[in-house]
Formats: sequence, C-alpha cells, structure tokens
Amino acid sequence: MADLFTDISYLKGVGPSRAKLLKSEIGVHDFGDLLNYLPFRYVDRSHFVTVDTVDPNSTFVVLRGRIFDVRITSTSKYTERLNASFTDGTGVVDLVWFQGVKWIKESIKNDCPYLLMGKITTYGDRMQMAHPDIEPYVFSDQKQNHRFLPVYGTTEKLKSVGLNPKGISRLVDMLLMQLRNQIPETLPDFVLAKYRLMGREMSLNNMHFPSEPSKLSQATYRMKFEELFWLQLDYQYARFARSNLSVGMVFSVVGHYFNTFYRECLPFELTSAQKRVVKEIRNDMRSGRQMNRLLQGDVGSGKTLVALLSMLLAIDNDCQSCMMAPTEILAVQHYNTICKLLGDKLGLKVELLTGAMKLSQKKALKTRLRNGDIHLLIGTHALIENDVVFNNLGLVVIDEQHRFGVEQRAKLWTKNVVPPHVLVMTATPIPRTLSMTLYADLDCSIIDELPPGRMPVQTVHKTDAYRSLLFDFIRKQIAVGRQVYVVYPLINESDSLELKDLMDGYESMSRAFPAPQYQLSIVHGRQDPEIKAYEMDRFKKGETHIMVSTTVIEVGVDVPNATVMVIENAERFGLSQLHQLRGRVGRGGGDSYCILMTSDKLSKTAQARINIMCETTDGFRIAEADLKLRGPGDLQGTQQSGVLDLKLADLVDDEPLVVATRDEVRSILQSDPDLHLPKHQMLFHYLQSKNSKPHWNKIS
Ligand code: ADP
Ligand code: MG
Repeated sequence: MADLFTDISYLKGVGPSRAKLLKSEIGVHDFGDLLNYLPFRYVDRSHFVTVDTVDPNSTFVVLRGRIFDVRITSTSKYTERLNASFTDGTGVVDLVWFQGVKWIKESIKNDCPYLLMGKITTYGDRMQMAHPDIEPYVFSDQKQNHRFLPVYGTTEKLKSVGLNPKGISRLVDMLLMQLRNQIPETLPDFVLAKYRLMGREMSLNNMHFPSEPSKLSQATYRMKFEELFWLQLDYQYARFARSNLSVGMVFSVVGHYFNTFYRECLPFELTSAQKRVVKEIRNDMRSGRQMNRLLQGDVGSGKTLVALLSMLLAIDNDCQSCMMAPTEILAVQHYNTICKLLGDKLGLKVELLTGAMKLSQKKALKTRLRNGDIHLLIGTHALIENDVVFNNLGLVVIDEQHRFGVEQRAKLWTKNVVPPHVLVMTATPIPRTLSMTLYADLDCSIIDELPPGRMPVQTVHKTDAYRSLLFDFIRKQIAVGRQVYVVYPLINESDSLELKDLMDGYESMSRAFPAPQYQLSIVHGRQDPEIKAYEMDRFKKGETHIMVSTTVIEVGVDVPNATVMVIENAERFGLSQLHQLRGRVGRGGGDSYCILMTSDKLSKTAQARINIMCETTDGFRIAEADLKLRGPGDLQGTQQSGVLDLKLADLVDDEPLVVATRDEVRSILQSDPDLHLPKHQMLFHYLQSKNSKPHWNKIS
C-alpha cells in the first residue's frame, strides 16, 4: 500500500521521466515530498473581473467568458502556435499558446463558458494573454469544487513535460485522493486538543485546495504550529531537558567580596535594569540547578559590571570564575577594566590567558589555576583548551555569545565535576523569537536601559562628495578634544585586496591629518598582537586622535572619549555589524555621530539597511529588521544551525506561535525528559527518525 515514502514515480500520471524531473528540479522524491510542496499563492476563482475593467498593470486576472475562433498558425515548418479569441461580452482578449498546441486545440469546446486566468499584456489597443490557464466554468456544479486555485512553483523543464502549476495541482489532487484517510497525524492528541489544531490530513487538503478562506487559515495555522513545534523539539530535546534538570552548585552566600565591592568600589549607581538582572542571576545560582542564562543588553548597557558582580558571588562561595571573550583585544580590555574596577582593596588574583602568551607564562599560570591560586581568569578561546584545569570552577561568563558555537559553550561546562553556572552575554540583540529558538535552552535576562547621560548617536548617510566636509567635521571634533574611529570592511582577514583598502584609507587619512598635529592609530587583524595592543592603548589613553581600523574593534571596545564613528563602504556591512560599530561611540555623554559613507549607487537592501540605521538606535528594532531583510539563516550565529530555514512560519510575524510552541515543548520535556510516556511516543519517534546524526553532546 502506498504511504508517504512511496517513490513519486508510482503516482498515477507521473512515470519515470516526470519523476526524474520532479526529483532534480524541485526535490520531490516521494509522496510525502509532494504533499509538502505547498502552493505559493492561490487564485480566487470566484473573483473574476470583466475585460473592460482589466487593469493592464495587474499581474494576474481571472475572467469568465467564451473562447472562439481557435486556429493553428505556423510561422515555419517547425513552429506552430495556437491563436484564439476570448470574450465576456465587454471586450476581446487575444489568446496565444506556443506549446501543447494540438492538445489544447482539441480540448477547447465551442460555446462552453470558460474561466481564463493569466497575465494580460497590451499591444496598442489589443489585449493579449499568452499561455493562459483555462478551464470550463461550471455554474452550479459541486465539481467546481476548488474555489481557490493553488499556484505552484515550477520550472521550464517541468513545464516542458506538462508540469505547469496546473499540471502539478492535478498530481497533488490525485495524490490526496489516493492517500485519503492514510495521512498520519504527527502531533499528539493532547496538543491538537489544547491548541484546537486541525488534523494533519485535513490541513494538507486545505493547504492545497482550500474550500474557504477560514479553512485555509486554520490549516496554515496548524502547519506553522507543527513546523515550529518540531523546531523547538529539535533544539530543546538534547540540550534543555538535560541541562535544565542538572544539579548546580548552591551559592547561598552574599559575602565579603560582593558586599565590599558593592559598597566601596562601585564607581556609579547601578541602573535599575542592572540591579534586576543581578538579582535574577543571584536567584539562579542559589537555586540548586545549574544556571544557563542569556544576558542580552544593547552595546554600552553595562554588562561587564553585571558579569563582575556575578563572578564575585561565585568567589564568595569559594569558587573560581572565568570569563571568555571572542577576541584578544576584548579579553585584554576586560582584564584591564576589571582590574581597575577591583583595585587592590579585595586582594583578588585576576589573570589573563590568551593564545598570544608565551608558553612558559601559560604554564605557570595553569599551575596556579589548578592549585586554586587564581580567583578570576579572563581569556580568549585559549580557556577551553584541555590543559586549562580549574581547581573549583563555579561560574563561566561568555561574552558576545554569537561568536562562539554551542560546542564551545558546552566544553566549558565540563571543566568541573558539578557543571559550573553559565552566563552568556550578547550585545547583538536577537529578536525575542529567534533567541527563544536558538537559545531555547537558556533563560533570558535583558538590560533594557542605558546608563544615565547617554545621548543617542546621530547617524547620517553620506557619499564621497561629502568627503572634504567630513574632514572639516573631524578636525572640529578633534579640536574640542574628541576622538574618531574610521572603520573599513574587512570581512575576510586573508583578503589582501580589502587590506589594501584599509591601507589606502590610512594613507589618505594621514595626508588629510598630518603629524605632528594629528596622531593616527591603525589596527587590523593581521597585526602582531603586541602592536595591536599598543595601538589600542595609545588610542584609549587619548594619545592618538583617529583610529583607522577594520572590524576588529567591532566588539566591546570601550573608549568613552571617542564621539565620531565613520564607517567606510557601509553598504558592505550587515545591520548587526553596523549597530555594533555605532555602539563604540556615544559612551561619554557628549554628542556623538555616526557617518555611514557609501558609494552613490546602492542595492535596494543596502539602502534599506542604511535607512534603518539612520532611523533608529534601538537594537531590537534593528535586529528585527535584519531578520526581515535577510532571513534567519543569514543572521550571525545562526549559519551553523541550519535548522532555521522555515517554510511557513515567520519568526517575526508568528511570535505568538513561537512562544506557544516553545512553552509547550518545554513543559513536555520537563514532565518527561526522555519522552518515554505513551502520549509522547510520537515525538520520540519523530526525533529518532530525524536525528540519525549523532548529537554534539554525545560526542564531546
Ligand atoms: P556593554 O554592555 O556593551 O558590555 P560595558 O559593560 O562595556 O557595556 O559598559 C559601557 C560603559 O558604561 C562602561 O564605560 C561602563 O563603565 C559604563 N557603565 C556601566 N554601568 C554603568 C552605570 N550603572 N552607570 C554609569 N555608567 C555605567
Ligand atoms: Mg561588553
């Protein structure tokens, strides 16, 4: 008997040659694939217009009338075409077909009312429709069953074997008939009941041939639900279920270090958002469960301080803490910031570990770490190497999560017998719905408030014609003691062409801003770490006025006195990168500016990106726009996930469904982490059949 896995060539009307094309052209291999090959739109056949009212600009019209004067004409021996006329009494449309000429001619009946569907083109005062879809219009017949005609994507090759949208719809129709009462339900009964979802078979029938609009929307709802539900189950099954139930160290004390720092070292009052988040973290860490928390906060919202306070809590409970940053520059900066904030009042041992350090240095450091002589370790990826062994690691902070894969995060958990608490921080705001999916296993905290005194960065878009004015502007800013970033895109560190852009830019900046009056720094990824650090340091101390760099400064660099961010070739940056870069300025309380320099001609999406940047500084709005413009598959950090190529659901528009499925899957897994209850059997089987690939956490 036929089922969803039956090869498509067994469907009536398909046969070997069509089957081959269905497979190669649109990936339809079996019955199930064809069922899932959904129309991209529908034509409402009850909604026809008259010829005299046709808008020549409309892309698609439905007309009702008669076809007459059907004749084959040939321009040469080999090329035949079929001409005919159509009228509904209000006007005439010329019809023409270039393919299937004989067959179509024979099928057209005189004096029979037809529905005519397609795009009208006009030639002078004549209207024409090439390759229209036609079908007999039956007045009161039940068989005029499908009010909505599905329109399927097809290709030239498929059309050549008769599989135009209509041909495909015939196959689907056939298939649905053949599989009547045999399409298995995939969601458990209790889920269907709870969310009042249409059954799977009925949904598929309505997705292809909706009987009425309300049925189509119910069917769509169900199919979207299903899609998001599986996505959530995929993400949460292995990760969330286990980690969320795993035992965590109990940090019951708020002790000497935290209190002393809070009372005596804190340079400013915490914002109320910072206070709230510290409280959430504190509650996690004394709950007895392992903390897995994502801290989102826009650039400059003060995440470092929250991290430091959390680390002090761990130290108060006799544990070590570590903090991992994605770049060397950032690790060094965190190290300096934290040392400065702590001062020497607390007597804490803070150390830095990066790949660039000398082997002997590293070795000594690792010994001290193992012996528990270091309280707080800051570093890059170097932290996750196997020979980095802690004495008693209680808290791991990961800055700028999107730069690290889940695997790297997981590796840090294994650095202690009882898994340490984990705080993941990101300044790349992720739309809520996306973080619920990508980080379904993490609880989320948001710092939604900037420290007082911040001014939104004024952002403008300029082209080369403005350059001399730009230089004047920069001179004025420097004259009042401010500093300036000029950033060039360098997407690929090994690309010498792009490096040349940067060098040329540096050259011309040096000419426009000559020494000794002006001092320039240059930083890029191919520099020696020592030179990089030296240049950064000079800029930070205010010894240089202009920092010419690539995006190495994108993440986290903090120089409050810098108030101008010039981004060259801004059209080549993604939105989240632009937002990150802009976040480097506007930190000192003075008026700040971001100048997006582009060429004169911009692609539509590049223009859209630039416009959004000029309109808003709200990171979440920008993230949502990014998601809309690019689709989730392109967002930073999601490339590897591969799971986010949703067909129906939209992570922005379908937020309520994302929330519902996230919560439902979460509660299912909480009650039955291994999915062994009978009512969850369906889910277990789904995962088994889908995840035949080994999962990362079973490997590491
Ligand atoms: P991010 O969230 O981007 O990592 P940082 O932690 O680097 O932000 O903080 C940005 C700047 O804001 C730093 O100079 C920091 O000292 C300052 N800052 C942090 N919290 C406060 C606060 N509550 N009041 C005033 N300034 C603050
Ligand atoms: Mg930061």
